[in-house]
Amino acid sequence: MTTLLEFKNVSKQYGSETKALSNINFAVKEGEFVSIIGPSGAGKSTLLRCINRMIDASSGEIVFDGANVSAFKKKELKRLRTRIGMIFQHYNLVNRLSVIENVLHGRLGYKSTLAGALGLYTDEEKRQAFNILQILGLEEQIYKRCDQLSGGQKQRVGIGRALIQAPRMLLCDEPIASLDPNASKMIMDHLKNISSSMGITVVVNLHQVDVALKYSDRIIGVNKGRVVYDGVPEGIQTDELQSIYGSEVANNLSELGGQHAG
Ligand code: ADP
Repeated sequence: MTTLLEFKNVSKQYGSETKALSNINFAVKEGEFVSIIGPSGAGKSTLLRCINRMIDASSGEIVFDGANVSAFKKKELKRLRTRIGMIFQHYNLVNRLSVIENVLHGRLGYKSTLAGALGLYTDEEKRQAFNILQILGLEEQIYKRCDQLSGGQKQRVGIGRALIQAPRMLLCDEPIASLDPNASKMIMDHLKNISSSMGITVVVNLHQVDVALKYSDRIIGVNKGRVVYDGVPEGIQTDELQSIYGSEVANNLSELGGQHAG
């Protein structure tokens, strides 16, 4: 499998005080499902947002599909963002618009500002939106306003909006942090299916180590802005949990070290 994403010595400094990322190095292969885990404030969100340049790294290189994204100017950046879908903890939907309108927003990156502002979508784009909503089990909700949906349904709309971009990769920033266990499972199952059946690379920030162990091909453990683990879920035992989360939390989590979905 070819490498789709690579971090080379990436650091991020906020102001003069906070070093959020320190010399991060890792590579992600096409189609991989990678979870980034670590305590609050470890730098997970910063790391994810540097990939599509929502945040600019202070130094180092981030290579996506063979190109250094740090050097991208406006036009290349717009193109990069069509190829990378983003899923947010709080969904980032337009609540007064319908489900299908929110999904179609995923096509805006391909349009001129005017066509986008006028909501001019082709029949083919509408068919695609419908198909994606069917895959996500939302065909009954298509014309509902998003503020009438449950959290799990809103997150599926968020996934639909990312998928209609025809992305190479999905970045998911704490996608299940606001959801109950049933909705969380449904969202994680959809993300797993997106990587295994559609071949789309998935990189997801997770708070829940048990979920990360169950779904990931690979886990990157981050602590205080440094990568302290990079490997298969099976390699995460008590010692690894301690280096990722610190000894106190790791004692509470150590029983999870043996739980893997295989
Ligand atoms: P995580 O996602 O693991 O909780 P973050 O990437 O959000 O971690 O934060 C990493 C560190 O950077 C934390 O110390 C946080 O306070 C700091 N930080 C995050 N965003 C900003 C910002 N916009 N300005 C200043 N400091 C920030």
